[in-house]
Amino acid sequence: MFFNFLKNKKEGSAVTANDKRKKKQSEYNRQVILTKQSADGIITYSKTWHPHEGILILQGKSKKNGEIRIDGLVVPPFASGGPYYSGFPTNELPMDLSYIGTAHSHPGGSNRPSLQDLNNFFGVVSIIISYPYEYETIGAFDRNGNSISLIIE
Ligand SMILES: [Zn+2]
Repeated sequence: MFFNFLKNKKEGSAVTANDKRKKKQSEYNRQVILTKQSADGIITYSKTWHPHEGILILQGKSKKNGEIRIDGLVVPPFASGGPYYSGFPTNELPMDLSYIGTAHSHPGGSNRPSLQDLNNFFGVVSIIISYPYEYETIGAFDRNGNSISLIIE
């Protein structure tokens, strides 16, 4: 009886804490989750295109709690031949609800989005990777150019 009482109380407080965290996350903490396979794909693709920019379409899901999960990459049909510029015609993309953004490389400089990048924003997230193309040089941004926390799993 005593143990049951303790156990119930503990579970009760755990749920409360969890609810609070969930609420906070949906309101303030957007987060991008990139599967390791997708991250590796972006890295390999960027290295292949270096010293030119490479661009990919991101597939995944944007959840109501603020979480954006990326688990697939699509090579755009127009991304052949370089040098390539990342401001690409989004109206040439087939309509697909699993397309939630783009990833592109910055062969020089930082992984911050350029004005051109923001003007050509597609979807809900822009992944930018800068040279030398490692996990540490991958950044995620919203359409206003604000950084979104990124987790590779
Ligand atoms: Zn760019």
